[in-house]
Amino acid sequence: MSYMITAECINCSACAMECPVRAITSGPSQYEINPAICIECEGYYPVARCKWACPVDACVPERAHYLERAATMANKGAPPVIVTRAHPAGELAGVA
Ligand code: SF4
Ligand code: SF4
Repeated sequence: MSYMITAECINCSACAMECPVRAITSGPSQYEINPAICIECEGYYPVARCKWACPVDACVPERAHYLERAATMANKGAPPVIVTRAHPAGELAGVA
């Protein structure tokens, strides 16, 4: 389970410089984490380095993002989200 960067990113590049495995790069509109490279380094540091470095708290575990998104959808009256499998790129798929 990797970390991801939310839309709050202001492209400051701080996270990219702190990531111990260079999993973060500049994307078309904001910085992105490659889930195939991220080692979820919070196991090696008190806090994941990207989360520690980000001034707008845009680096979050994908799990937290999913739960937040599911809660938002539920609040809007959407049907429950059912996860059937993890996308190879780390994204969640299988919305019912
Ligand atoms: S959690 Fe750690 S390894 Fe993953 S992108 Fe952030 S700094 Fe890099
Ligand atoms: S530290 Fe935060 S705001 Fe800066 S590039 Fe990384 S995700 Fe974006």
